[in-house]
This record gives sequence, structure tokens and C-alpha cells, in this order.
Amino acid sequence: MPDHLGDWSPETFEQHGQELLTVIREHFESIRQTPVATPCDAVELLALLDSDLPELGEEFEHILAETRDRVMPNLVHWNHPSFHGYFPTTASFSGVLAETLTAALNVNAMLWKTSPAATALEEVVLRWIAQMVGYAQTADSVLVNGASLATLYALTAARDSALDFDVRTRGITGPGVPVLRVYTSDQAHSSVDKAAITLGIGADNVVKVPSDAEYRMRPDLLEDAIRRDLDAGVQPVAVVATVGTTSVAAADPLADVAEICARHGVWLHVDAAYGGFYALAPTLRGRLEDLSVGDSLVVNPQKTLFVPLEATALFCRRAGVLANTFRLVPEYLTSAKDDNTVDYMDFSPQLGRSFRALKLWWVIRTFGRSGLAARLDHAIRLADWLRMTAAGHPDWNCVNTSVYPLVCLRYEPWARLPGDGPDEQGKQAHIDALNSRITDAINADGRVYVSHSVIREGYVIRLSIGNIHTTRSDVEHLWRVISEIAEKELAQYGR
Ligand code: PLP
Repeated sequence: MPDHLGDWSPETFEQHGQELLTVIREHFESIRQTPVATPCDAVELLALLDSDLPELGEEFEHILAETRDRVMPNLVHWNHPSFHGYFPTTASFSGVLAETLTAALNVNAMLWKTSPAATALEEVVLRWIAQMVGYAQTADSVLVNGASLATLYALTAARDSALDFDVRTRGITGPGVPVLRVYTSDQAHSSVDKAAITLGIGADNVVKVPSDAEYRMRPDLLEDAIRRDLDAGVQPVAVVATVGTTSVAAADPLADVAEICARHGVWLHVDAAYGGFYALAPTLRGRLEDLSVGDSLVVNPQKTLFVPLEATALFCRRAGVLANTFRLVPEYLTSAKDDNTVDYMDFSPQLGRSFRALKLWWVIRTFGRSGLAARLDHAIRLADWLRMTAAGHPDWNCVNTSVYPLVCLRYEPWARLPGDGPDEQGKQAHIDALNSRITDAINADGRVYVSHSVIREGYVIRLSIGNIHTTRSDVEHLWRVISEIAEKELAQYGR
């Protein structure tokens, strides 16, 4: 046997770790000179990275250099102060270090007995999160990988509770199984449809309740839809209300929706994946929906709490219901449990689970509640500045009215469009096309990164603010870049 089998020595690990830390330090020291995205061709990129399966091991220095020189320049840098697409995703430095220790320990947090301190810390951070967002601290809860999966798990439990037979043993086929329905607004995230598809409820049975002028679910129409279904013998499974919708960051009127759900005995799942943690922000005190009314709730630390992907918290105040759906213990997983221990495998279908709580524990302790609140407040103020600046410009229209730091803009230089050109509808289509081109040009330019949506007003450029590195001068830079590119696109194609 060669004597070089086995892993690196701990000393070599430390040495390579320091080399890696240097690469990370240099990346962040030069982040404002680094494009947030670089246009790349899929075929060329694959050719750049593809190679034969390595037969022999390589030097780490070489692997790291290729990662730095070939991989990192061909990424969209979500952890960049000028990343304004989709929603914020900050990996703050203490979270990054926690990920390293998590990987080093490689604990499997499936059962209390396989991960005592990881389980205890999961209980601690989930209680802290419940406290931060205003949900019952005694609720059943679990860390999962993504809000989409949290919603799937919540709706699975809701489905099982809604039916008066044992779904776990019988399934949802056969005589006597009613049509199942989920209600959500026409602004809900696609994860609701995906959950319905996965659960066999079917996308056609997701009722998209129309939203009002501010993109909030209309409770009167929700009530009508539920009543109609009950009269027709259809079984409501759940209402999914959103706090911080994906396109415009609207919040559904939770108190009214909760009242309707309570009246009809329907489960209310609250998707506060984006909006949840802004409950911490002093600026928004008294202006937010009360998340505690949900039977279940999802919030996403991986979006707005400066915690690296993947970390999502699912809460359910209906005691024991998640476990009724997901607890299944084969002989090889039995353990002597008592009332003081939790086996997190009981709250979702996932068995092998990483030690997600550690990064939350580190990040929350690093900044403290007040530090997190101040950072969220800062993002709100930056977005307010951008909103006001755009609103004061004759060619830009700020389309959404959200309290959250998501600004939806439309470049509408009506006065500079040809007077005898297309009719009103034709002009709208022209503006849509112009905004779409501006979005593509911004992202090809690489100085800032944005995303888009299409709402009733048409195509909008979505500018999400919330990366931990983003400063006022970064947002001024964002405004300058989008203004410059919009002018250029108008001059090139728009007239
Ligand atoms: N819900 C809302 C409102 C979202 O905006 C998103 C993501 O954009 C999700 C759910 C899905 O989150 P995840 O990517 O964690 O599955």
C-alpha cells in the first residue's frame, strides 16, 4: 500500500485553508472592480472547465488557481454590493466561516442522538427566529433547504390534516377522495404551484385569487372562492398568503385572510420568505402584517438574514402535525427519546441533514438582534432613496409601493417617443420592449445586476437592495448605471 493514502494532514489543511482565505480576501478587497456578472457563452464555458476524469490527484494550488481564474470570473456574484437581482443573498463572513466548520465536522443532524449539540442549537436558533419575526416560540419548527420545500412540507401537512382518512396509508387515490384546492393570490411564488403538482393536488387546483391595485390578495374574492368550493363538495387544503411577493414585494392582508381561514377551518400558510425578517426593522414598526396568525410560516434567513445558502425556517403552530405527516422510524433509526429531545428527521422527508443551525447561531450572535435590525433598516433607507430619486425623474416610473427594499422601475420616456407613432397600446409594447432591452444591457454591462418581472403595468426592472456590502454610494452608482444604459438604449433603438 502506498503510504500517501488518506486525507491531507491537518497542517496541510491549515496551509491550504490560508491560501483559500487569501483568495477570498482578495476577492472582497477588489469586489467593486469585479464585474457582478460577465457574459459568457455556454459552449465556450463548458470547454474551459471540462476535462477528462482526473486519474491522478492534483496539487491543491493548481485546483485553487483554476477556481480563481476560470470559475470565479464566470459566475454571477450574488454576494456583490451591486447585485440587485431577484432578492438579497448575503453570505456574511461569520456565516462563511461557520460553513467551513460545518463541513469539517460533517455532522448529520437527523436524530438527537446523532447530533446532540447540533439539535440543541437548531432549537435555540429556531426560537430566536420565531422571536425575531413574531411567531409562537413554542411552535414545531425545522430548518430546511429553501422556502419552496418549506411550503411543500407545510402543504403536505395541511393536506393530511384536511382529509378525514389516513392519507399516509391510503394515499390520495380511490373512491371518496374529494377534489383538493389550495388558494393563493395571483402574485404568489411558483413554489405554491410546484407544491400542488408534487402533492398530486394539481396546478389546476391552485386557485389564484385576484389581487387589488397594490397587488395584495383580495379577501372578499378569497371568501367567494372558498364558499363556492365548499358548496360544490371540493375540499380546501390551505390558503397560502404572501408577505413580500416576488414581483413587487406586496404583503397580503393577513388578519383578514386569517379570519376567513378560521371561519372555514382552512389551514393558513404564510410565505414570508422575503418579507419575514423585516419585522426586525425599526423603520417598519407598526406597518407590517402579523405573521403569528399563520398555522404555518416560512421565513428565509438565506435571503435577508445574511446567512449563506441554504437555510430556511419552517414553523407550524399546530402541535404535532408536521410529525404526524413525516415521522417514520425504521428499526435502524430508533432511539431512546424523551420529551426533552427532538429528532429533526420527524419534521420533513429529509433524513441526512447538515448542521444548518451553526451558521445561523454564528451570524445572529455576530451582529446581534440590533445589528441585524440596523442592517435591514439601512437597506430600506437605501431603497427609499432610490425610489424617491426615480420618482423625481420625468422618464422613470416607480411602479411598486412596497415598504420592503425592492424597487420596481419602468423607463417611460413618453415625451421623447415619436408623436405620430403607434397608438397607446403600441407605445406600451414599445416601452415593454425598451425596458426588456435595458435589463439585458445592464446585465451584459456587468457593473450592476438586476432582474425583471411582468406585472399589470407591463415589464418592470426589479432592483432589490439588501446585500450587506451595499452602501449609499453603491446605490448612487446603480442609479447612474441604469440611467446611462437606459439613455443609450433609447438612443439606439427607441425612437
Ligand atoms: N416565496 C417567495 C415569496 C419567494 O420570493 C421565493 C424566492 O424567490 C420563494 C418562495 C422560494 O424560495 P427558495 O428559493 O428558498 O425556494
